[in-house]
Amino acid sequence: MVTFVGAGPGAVDLITVRGKALLEEADIVIYAGSLVNPELLLYTKQSCQVYNSAEMTLEQVISVMETGDITGKKIVRLHTGDPSIYGAIREQMDMLLQRGIEYSVIPGVSSFCGAAAALKAEYTLPEVSQTVILTRMEGRTPVPERERISQLAAIQASMAIFLSSSRLEHLSRELTAGGYRPDTPAAIVYKATWPDEKIVRTNIEKLAAAAKENNISKTALILVGDFLGKEYARSKLYDPAFTHMFREASE
Ligand code: SAH
Repeated sequence: MVTFVGAGPGAVDLITVRGKALLEEADIVIYAGSLVNPELLLYTKQSCQVYNSAEMTLEQVISVMETGDITGKKIVRLHTGDPSIYGAIREQMDMLLQRGIEYSVIPGVSSFCGAAAALKAEYTLPEVSQTVILTRMEGRTPVPERERISQLAAIQASMAIFLSSSRLEHLSRELTAGGYRPDTPAAIVYKATWPDEKIVRTNIEKLAAAAKENNISKTALILVGDFLGKEYARSKLYDPAFTHMFREASE
């Protein structure tokens, strides 16, 4: 049995209770060493075999899982944040399926949630935006043409941009080409929820300069949109004049 577990964004106590219990019971842990906090491995028992997938190919990962499964081992595949976002889990699950190995997935706190918490921000502000776009710039992994940042920017929703902190000049150009004002608020959140977390508040135009000034080129999320600004409307849900299923209007 293989369990894909979301490790959370960084802080060791932001893994789920279920994820932690699985780590404690695991005979084999394969963790994404480039981003998972290694302190999480302290939850494993002494006899647990630990592998760092940053040094392995997909085939090697599957081979460790297969060998472990044949001998009845409990295997945890530990992915940063939530495994469903840029986790490359589908290809692993499909290979397990082909081999008749059972698996399940435990969600985790994604870094886009960790980053919003660090900023004390809300992505979905009434009359500002009710949509969050999770995306990335093209890197070695191509992004479909219809999902270019400029196309997404045209929607003017709140955006959380992963895997892109080394290409910020290009990112700013795409965002403004899509229709964002150059002074639209933006933030760079480096290692959200880790002890060395850094928050840089800036705007779209100044993204690259702000990252350079703060020595940030990786492990950061770029957040963009007027949800980082001052203006918004009050929610209807808590409006005294608004009746809903659980509360009668008082005014
Ligand atoms: N599955 C992960 C994302 C993996 S892709 C999740 O749900 O968060 C790796 C990218 O995620 C990094 O390039 C960075 O953009 C972002 N990232 C991961 N952890 C982060 C953190 N603690 N703070 C800021 N960005 C982070």
